Amino acid sequence: MLVSSGETIGLSTVYRNLTEMFEAREVDMIIGNDGESLYRLCSDDHHHHLTCKGCGLAIEIVGEALEVWAKQTGLDHGFSEISHTLEITGICKACRTS
Ligand SMILES: [Zn+2]
Ligand SMILES: [Zn+2]
Repeated sequence: MLVSSGETIGLSTVYRNLTEMFEAREVDMIIGNDGESLYRLCSDDHHHHLTCKGCGLAIEIVGEALEVWAKQTGLDHGFSEISHTLEITGICKACRTS
């Protein structure tokens, strides 16, 4: 992300705090369609989002097959402390019909 140096200090502090909260799973991070990071409170359980590029609607989804695959892929390469992020985007029904 390109930010002019004058703005970087304040913003990076904010981002760092949010990133820490994100890592502590207090908030989930969602990348907005303008490329900026949006944060919103979500359920505690690990899940992913199906996000509408039109209106920003975010649906929480779980994908058991994905979870197994992601972990196994890490293990196959000898990794530990494996985690992943996944975001599915598209255009929701409401946006498509409007
Ligand atoms: Zn939509
Ligand atoms: Zn997952």
